Amino acid sequence: MQIINRTFFFLILTGILILSSCEVSYLDNDDEWISGDFHLHSDNSDDSDSDMAELISYAENAGFGFFVVADHDKHVIQEDGVLIDDRLETWDDEDYTSDSMIILYGTEWTACYGHANFFSAEPWDHLYLYQMKVEDRVIGWDPTYLSEGWHTTDGKSSAPFSLSSCVFEESEESDSSKDDEVASRTPSIDSSIMVRENKWLISYLVDEVHNLGLHFSVNHPYNDNPWEPNFYEDYDDMEVWNGLYLLGTQNVKALEKWDEILTSGRMLTGRGGSDCHHISSFESNFLLMGNPTTWVKTDGEETGEAVLEALKKGRVSISYDPEGERVDYTADADGDGSYETLPGDNLTDGIGSTINFKIALDRMVKNKIYFVRVIKNGEIFIRDSFTSRDGTYLFSDTPDARSYYRVEIRGSNPEGPDLSALLQGTMIAVSNPVYVGYDE
Ligand SMILES: [Zn+2]
Ligand SMILES: [Zn+2]
Repeated sequence: MQIINRTFFFLILTGILILSSCEVSYLDNDDEWISGDFHLHSDNSDDSDSDMAELISYAENAGFGFFVVADHDKHVIQEDGVLIDDRLETWDDEDYTSDSMIILYGTEWTACYGHANFFSAEPWDHLYLYQMKVEDRVIGWDPTYLSEGWHTTDGKSSAPFSLSSCVFEESEESDSSKDDEVASRTPSIDSSIMVRENKWLISYLVDEVHNLGLHFSVNHPYNDNPWEPNFYEDYDDMEVWNGLYLLGTQNVKALEKWDEILTSGRMLTGRGGSDCHHISSFESNFLLMGNPTTWVKTDGEETGEAVLEALKKGRVSISYDPEGERVDYTADADGDGSYETLPGDNLTDGIGSTINFKIALDRMVKNKIYFVRVIKNGEIFIRDSFTSRDGTYLFSDTPDARSYYRVEIRGSNPEGPDLSALLQGTMIAVSNPVYVGYDE
């Protein structure tokens, strides 16, 4: 009862805030940033009931510039090992099309020891990658490898990660004709070893994903089949904000891991993804497509390649909702008053010189208080607040060593689904870092 009362109170408060506020802008150029959601499921996934046409229509109405669905790749093969020839991938869905959005192709590689989204500007044959999961017996992986440790080509044996979340089924007699059918569509792969050239399987997988020209994106590293392999593999980005920021997820830990990786000297993009499975049923009361939304700067180029290039480069920020504020974070490295350095940029000669940073907000709400946090090399460097009266938030620093600076904005979040503010916490936007003195 108390929760219902609080909800009504919140809804009334939200209404008052919306009625009494208006947006102000301090942006130079906001037209080259486009939004989307890098982690969506449709009813092609076995645990989603979202209709594809409904997803597309919702995304278009949300103003998204790009669209991708990354369904669980378990549907490539049914549980009894039968290949589903007429519904191999999400993009075979006849409704997977839009006149206004850039369509990307995606799938969620779903293993018990971690999930990763693969993205591309073009479709690909996923079966080859699907089979590279040690828990799948379809192609003949032998689970005894797991108890014996992973084999290296120099004869040593060592497990790179525990696989503690994996529960393996008893091996069953397989129907050889079905195996043949699968094998006939599959490039040859030596399933008797899990390594090649002394590399672990995940390295092999990342290599193969890259060989196919795809983007490798680690999902929800600490919740729902957390990422157990090495975090320092050569993947392309990590989902640092999955679904609602606070409840049901482990985004605080994901951001901590991101900071650890960045501090190690690696430039790595952090992106968002709602992981929305239900666009219209109960869950949509608090989590919808675009919670969070990821923004990428494509410099006006309207292609899937440009979106993925921006994602890889770190021209990326995350907002809690498609209608919520976008953080616009730039830097002036040469003191000419022009903030031409963008998130993802690396000021290779910046160590020892003074750098001016500027934080602005697209859709900034009048009189709303924004709490800004700047993280430098894994530590909180600035904790402050600003409002539309201040317009922008400026700060400077003279780094004496390799450094990164990333920005988090907190505040009220009235644009999300009705119940989300109770579960979301106060995080409203996260920017990717500006780097100084990193090795390229
Ligand atoms: Zn997942
Ligand atoms: Zn998912």
